[in-house]
Amino acid sequence: NNDAFLARQAEFESNVRSYPRKLPLAIAKAHGVWITDVENKQYLDCLAGAGTLALGHNHPDVLQSIQNVITSGLPLHTLDLTTPLKDQFSESLLSLLPGQGKDYCLQFTGPSGADAVEAALKLAKKATGRSGVISFSGGYHGMTHGALSVTGNLAPKEAVDGMMPEVQFMPYPHQYRCPLGIGGEAGVKALTYYFDNLINDVESGVRKPAAVILEAVQGEGGVNPAPAEWLQRIRKVTQEHGILLILDEVQAGFARTGKFFAFEHAGIEPDIIVMSKAVGGGLPLAVLGIKKQFDVWSPGHHTGTFRGNQLAMATGLTTLKILKEQDIAGKVAAQGEWLKQQLAAMQKRFPVIGHVRGLGMMIGIEIVKPNEAADHMGSFPADGELSALLQKKCFEAGLILERGGRHGAVLRLLPSLLITNDELAIFLDKFEQALIGAGV
Ligand code: PMP
Repeated sequence: NNDAFLARQAEFESNVRSYPRKLPLAIAKAHGVWITDVENKQYLDCLAGAGTLALGHNHPDVLQSIQNVITSGLPLHTLDLTTPLKDQFSESLLSLLPGQGKDYCLQFTGPSGADAVEAALKLAKKATGRSGVISFSGGYHGMTHGALSVTGNLAPKEAVDGMMPEVQFMPYPHQYRCPLGIGGEAGVKALTYYFDNLINDVESGVRKPAAVILEAVQGEGGVNPAPAEWLQRIRKVTQEHGILLILDEVQAGFARTGKFFAFEHAGIEPDIIVMSKAVGGGLPLAVLGIKKQFDVWSPGHHTGTFRGNQLAMATGLTTLKILKEQDIAGKVAAQGEWLKQQLAAMQKRFPVIGHVRGLGMMIGIEIVKPNEAADHMGSFPADGELSALLQKKCFEAGLILERGGRHGAVLRLLPSLLITNDELAIFLDKFEQALIGAGV
């Protein structure tokens, strides 16, 4: 049973480092949005491998594509060398980039999102001859040194000294806690002033950076969609100042937010697009989309052993094909709006739901203390403890959710993009059970 496996893990604790056990189950099998544990209990999985499994668990076409590679005689590992499969995958991915990718080239960087972020930062430095980076509060870019340096969360940084120097953080818009500030007109003006007057001004102390890196919808930071006009303004000022704009689409990309890329909501074109998670259809793969004029690598300047995972290209290709041919982005956009309406109705009955936000199948539910004093924006204090309890109650009700944002107060939904309306109704049912179970 689950306990036996968990006890074995606990025994191994000193030898096998493992995820904190917020979700105490041992997984036996999974299909679609459903995970079954070793005791045969079923869970509706709204985490989907941290958003990696765009088509859910064990999609038959994805499994078949693995089978095809295995029986084709292709090597599993090819370094960065070309294969017909890599060729097909690259063509398919490029065609999904802005302008069908005609101004972009691809670079395979390694197995994880953080790998690709490292490559993007290095490339921006090389392309501009500058070294600074502007990043944003609540941004998440990975756990390697450079990626962690531009991550706007102090907790994981406090464990290690010596982050990348010259990283400046600016406030990211927040619909609930700062809806009018940096996100609105005043924020756009502040940003313009910052870039136009402060950068490279001796007295301001702000050095012109190589790049600005951001997520168009922050994931780990608590599901924060950036306003379109803010993103457009950032695109304009970075262009005017010759600063590269890096969009991290690792989590929000690949139809997750109801557009193929989350930056498409603002109609902007980044200089570098960071892609991982769903791009590999559930297997490890990371790729950069680079505007051709910034493709300044010389051979050997950025290499890595694991850039030729043929299985990941096969599962990635199948995923891209289904996302595109079945217009999953359109389906997901409509479902996201419907789900937000349902949750807004639930909010009236459960005031601990402070705010519901997000786009498509990337939805955040901020849990608050509604009986405490509201701040100057009329927003209640975040309640990380209750959110942790709700996560536990959801789990007991057979629902897997992740948390994020400040104090972990935001419950996050990142299910398979093929989730059905009936399954969303089951989610709502289980979530309500959890709220009742938590006595709120
Ligand atoms: N960027 C974003 C936006 C992410 O959400 C993540 C992972 N959650 C990463 C980068 C890092 O990816 P990885 O864990 O594969 O290194």
